[in-house]
Amino acid sequence: MSADDRRTAETDIAQGMHYVDPATGGVVPPIQASTTFARDADYALIGAGASYARDHNPVFRHAESMLARLEGAADARLFSSGMAAAMAVVQTLAPGDHVVAPRVMYWGLRNWLVKFCAQWGIALDLFDAADGDGLARAVQRGRTRLVWVETPCNPTWDVIDIAAAADIAKAAGARLVVDSTVATPVLTCPLALGADIVMHSATKYLNGHGDVVAGALATAADDEHWQRIREVRAEGGAIPGSFEAWLLQRGMRTLFLRVRRASESALAIARHFEGHAKLEAVLYPGLPSHSQHGIARAQMQGGYSGMLSLRVKGGAAAALRAAGHCRLLLRATSLGGVESLIEHRYSIEGPQSPIPPDLLRLSIGVETVEDLIADLEQALDQV
Ligand code: PLP
Repeated sequence: MSADDRRTAETDIAQGMHYVDPATGGVVPPIQASTTFARDADYALIGAGASYARDHNPVFRHAESMLARLEGAADARLFSSGMAAAMAVVQTLAPGDHVVAPRVMYWGLRNWLVKFCAQWGIALDLFDAADGDGLARAVQRGRTRLVWVETPCNPTWDVIDIAAAADIAKAAGARLVVDSTVATPVLTCPLALGADIVMHSATKYLNGHGDVVAGALATAADDEHWQRIREVRAEGGAIPGSFEAWLLQRGMRTLFLRVRRASESALAIARHFEGHAKLEAVLYPGLPSHSQHGIARAQMQGGYSGMLSLRVKGGAAAALRAAGHCRLLLRATSLGGVESLIEHRYSIEGPQSPIPPDLLRLSIGVETVEDLIADLEQALDQV
């Protein structure tokens, strides 16, 4: 094995795939704003194959090559949002197909799946990720086409065993797609565990600075199904702008540092607040008390993510009061940025939500962890 083969993804990503601009020697790729790309006198494309910007852009290809490296993927594609990436997968299904997905997952995608499947005659079963046999019971051999998994599940942080899910999907003749937004390629590589496709809301950790909306898919095989997904993107043009793709590749260079720091801080916060007098529970897969800690330990390398939830004694009113008294954690939706956020999910998702009304979701950033703990302590004191 050569030194090049042994080089880690962390090194390649920190160096933006060892990028050096052939025209200028710049170590950062330029932003290519052009929507169209010229051909030579023989009608061959002059550049690296880009033709029209609804589907082709050198800035995308750069970010996509970084993502493929991170996920150990045969290919990767950027989308205009995480939702657009997920939709491109679901749009490859046909009426009569069967899909399974966790009941607790990113609520925007679950709600859209319920509507889309009902409208297009696709059968959908939602399973309980806290129940170890829930997925196996939901899958129908020969009929299920897509097993959609999110792990850890936002915002209760149940952990799904990806290798076991891959076996179940394969035995049924279905594809396994994993939303790995929260775990990130730093902590989990779903393709190496048997998943067919990995999906990210790149809006979150991949970009990491709260200034880009984007999504991504990465595939284990460059097969017919992947070609269909590529067509969906090319036909619909659900792509980020050049500047967003450029910001994304810049953000990705510090992915490992940010995710490790956020994970260490989230674990410290979870440990500090477990058993706190004002809390019913701390939900975090890194705690040995988490019912799927064993799966998390085996599946997640180097940390358990920067996401955790606190269940506050006294229900929704007490949770809202605690959130309202935070001075440092910002009351805002989203996750995976450098600044820590706190959110009362039930207020956002509404009465149909399966999320407990006393739950506060925390996205831990890269601030000094003692400051975050002190902020949460003083906020809980007010409850
Ligand atoms: N998946 C997860 C786990 C998310 O948290 C989100 C957004 O919050 C999405 C997917 C959707 O991504 P986007 O907002 O980029 O469309």
